[in-house]
Amino acid sequence: MNNEYQSVQRKIKKLLIIADMSSKKNLTLTLLIAFLILTTTAVYGQQMIFSHQDSLRGSITKERAWWDLSYYHLDITINPTDSSLKGQNTISYKVLVPFQIMQIDLQQPMNIDKVTQNGKLLSFVRDGNAYFIEIADKQSINDFNEIVIDFSGKPLVSQNPPWSGGLSWKKDENHKPFIVTTCQGDGASLWWPCKDHQYDEPDSMLITATVPENLKVVSNGRLQNVKQNTDHTNTFTWFVSNPINNYCVNLNVADYVHFGEIYQGEDGPLDCDYYVLSYNLEKAKLHFREVPRMLEALEYWFGPYPFYKDSYKLVEVPYPGMEHQSSVTYGNDYKNGYKQTDESNTGWGMKFDFIIVHESAHEWFGNSITTKDIADMWVHEAFGAYSESLFLNYHFGKQACSEYVTGTRAKIRNDRPIIGPYDVNTAGSHDMYYKGANMLHTLRQIMNDDEKFRGMIRGLSKTFYHQTVTTQQIEDYISTYAGLDLTPFFNQYLRDTRIPVFEFQSNKNILKYRWGNCVNDFNLPIKIEVNNNTLWVYPTTEWKEMNFIKGSKIATDINFYVQQKDLSKLN
Ligand SMILES: [Zn+2]
Repeated sequence: MNNEYQSVQRKIKKLLIIADMSSKKNLTLTLLIAFLILTTTAVYGQQMIFSHQDSLRGSITKERAWWDLSYYHLDITINPTDSSLKGQNTISYKVLVPFQIMQIDLQQPMNIDKVTQNGKLLSFVRDGNAYFIEIADKQSINDFNEIVIDFSGKPLVSQNPPWSGGLSWKKDENHKPFIVTTCQGDGASLWWPCKDHQYDEPDSMLITATVPENLKVVSNGRLQNVKQNTDHTNTFTWFVSNPINNYCVNLNVADYVHFGEIYQGEDGPLDCDYYVLSYNLEKAKLHFREVPRMLEALEYWFGPYPFYKDSYKLVEVPYPGMEHQSSVTYGNDYKNGYKQTDESNTGWGMKFDFIIVHESAHEWFGNSITTKDIADMWVHEAFGAYSESLFLNYHFGKQACSEYVTGTRAKIRNDRPIIGPYDVNTAGSHDMYYKGANMLHTLRQIMNDDEKFRGMIRGLSKTFYHQTVTTQQIEDYISTYAGLDLTPFFNQYLRDTRIPVFEFQSNKNILKYRWGNCVNDFNLPIKIEVNNNTLWVYPTTEWKEMNFIKGSKIATDINFYVQQKDLSKLN
């Protein structure tokens, strides 16, 4: 996804839940306090409040840790006439540590109606958006068991998809229903019951969706069959044969038409399927020629597309787009740029369709490699954002890449660290996008070998293929691969908000230089222009000296995301 989480909006929702739980008499007071806290949070940005519900949602609780998710069968009926959902989720799991209480998440106003195991009804208690189910049968280590959850309700309606989660019940230009789900950040448990935490993914998933007979359902993976029912509905069965994270599970319901092609990629023939509204078919056929160009560039930099078995899809939706696994959703008006604007303000952003490139890049970083905690989401978004520059690099050359990525610096805020707080389902700063991309671009400069840098990204794709990871694993991999201790580098760009400053002082024939405004052990090597030459220097936070030709220009290479300051003028 390309935008920040609407954290303030989300907090309003949380506080409304808290307000809802307090007595009616105190409602006004609670809302007033909530408003004051939110104003403070919104204005100062740094202050964050977390609730018991945030911990239930964001941490690996004891009730989650004892079982390993192996399979979901989500069977769901969508009723456009009253905007309701009804269904059943069968969850298969392996017992890691015997325990009898299982946490399953489903957010208000959706409800779990019934839970069964081996035909026996199970009891449960609800704590806000978490359900604690008491398993009756003894759970023994390494057993594979199954639990069946019946649920129903009218899910939250998304106010601003994809940045606020929920269902969107729209109409297309022919006044036919156009229904889609979005839930990154807010969580899949907005609309179906699941283990709603990124650390654990099912090995595969079956999605069965029933809709009125004039509509089609496009979900993740491969369409297995379509069954006509006697009540004027059709049931679509989609199968995902790879691990999938919860927020990528999506349903798109519309009067879709289909076309497709086969792309000859690194791992052989890749089925590319496109689902668009009937009246956009001709436009889509022309515009989606971007897909093979995207696949060519991204496979070059990132390695083989990670879901050949499940195919690649673009699915039209009534919002800009989202990285749903093997089912990238598209709503960028069949035009280049991002909603016809250039993220970099250099002109290069109009040379490609932002949604097709950025959201598809998440198939590698986000879907194949998923962070366990969304605090570490830079792993998705920094590579997602840098993919835009790498696409340009592949098709238009290195200068285009450099101009685009440095152009996006105008969007960097340096308001909060890129890594967010752990265990409370909260992402870090929006800077995970373009500061993240500029950090990777700076890393590429230090490595000073594009083939080596490309090998590093492809190595990440291969090493952490279809896994959930922590930032530490990614940082360690990169340090080892580069043969450098990049701990201060990552601490600077991921855990601090300061931009390092190359400070220098010239005095006759001597130039003194060091890093300022940085973490203690910051030691980034950098290319500078000095003495009418370009050379590498190795500053630390202590002053170093070099010979200097008086009057010569001193400038840091623009490809490094740093600032520079001439302290001699202050003397
Ligand atoms: Zn993104």
